[in-house]
Amino acid sequence: MIVVTGATGAFGRQVVERLLDRGVPASEIAAVARSADKAADLADRGVQIRLADYDRPDTLVPAFTGADTLLLVSSTGPDDERIRQHRAAVAAAAQVGVGLLVYTSLFRADTSPLGLGRVHRDTETAIADSALPSVLLRNGWYTENYTGTLAGSVERGVIPGSAGDGRIASAARADLAEAAAIVLTREKQAGRVYELTGDTAWSLPELAAATTRQSGRHVSYQDLPPESYAEILTSVGLPDFVVELVVDADVQVSRGALAPVTPDLTDLLGRPTTPLAQTVAEALAR
Ligand code: NDP
Repeated sequence: MIVVTGATGAFGRQVVERLLDRGVPASEIAAVARSADKAADLADRGVQIRLADYDRPDTLVPAFTGADTLLLVSSTGPDDERIRQHRAAVAAAAQVGVGLLVYTSLFRADTSPLGLGRVHRDTETAIADSALPSVLLRNGWYTENYTGTLAGSVERGVIPGSAGDGRIASAARADLAEAAAIVLTREKQAGRVYELTGDTAWSLPELAAATTRQSGRHVSYQDLPPESYAEILTSVGLPDFVVELVVDADVQVSRGALAPVTPDLTDLLGRPTTPLAQTVAEALAR
């Protein structure tokens, strides 16, 4: 049985879909969700739905029971909350004795200068302490972190940020989800650490240029001091911890933290990763 947490999120849902595409019988997949309604489409396809919440540790043990392989998709929320939730999930996985624990971590989590690194380092340590056979999927930045708001950027003619001309070897979320499904169905994965990036790093000025080309409207990148960028993000209603995370990531991008390209993702996929231009096109088509 392959158990997938966060299965009603954008990433987890795609992992379940790719598992089905790869021929894993629906009866061999369990999707962990907080809401049965949100998982109804997966249930319709024969996937088992197990209701659980990282904040209610008593729900996790039954949800993980029988897992030959568990994909623990990192949660959302403020850092301390996520650390607590991930520790609860790892403890439940250890209690159940899952065959293999696969965790969606952060690119180079062990040394990452991103503030976000603290959550993932803590979880990786909890996993190591559990002594469970494990795989770390150290996911790089999703391209969608930047293209998710492109429609508004086209309207305003501006992409704001604090990343300067720092480069980002991001990957389409779908590529990372497909890679996860491949790892979940491949033999001899225990102990592997994958550093997953796109094949090509790009900069925010290049994103603006690609958006201009594809939308036919001039869009420029506006580099801002971190405080000014934070004000913009706050003004559109983002919670403080998200503003902090996004601005910190941009500052670290400006220093090259997400620029390195690794072959791990393209090797797993057996094809080139999705280029930035394609993710831009998909965002503009929506
Ligand atoms: P989503 O926000 O779409 O999905 C998050 C998933 O986590 C949802 O299924 C959500 O459940 C579930 N979840 C949140 N809190 C809990 C909880 N207390 N108990 C059980 N489940 C919970 O994010 P994505 O799918 O896009 O991304 C997956 C993860 O990757 C994120 O949660 C985040 O940790 C990380 N991430 C990485 C990025 C990167 O650039 N590498 C960018 C963004 C996120 P529900 O559907 O009920 O809300």
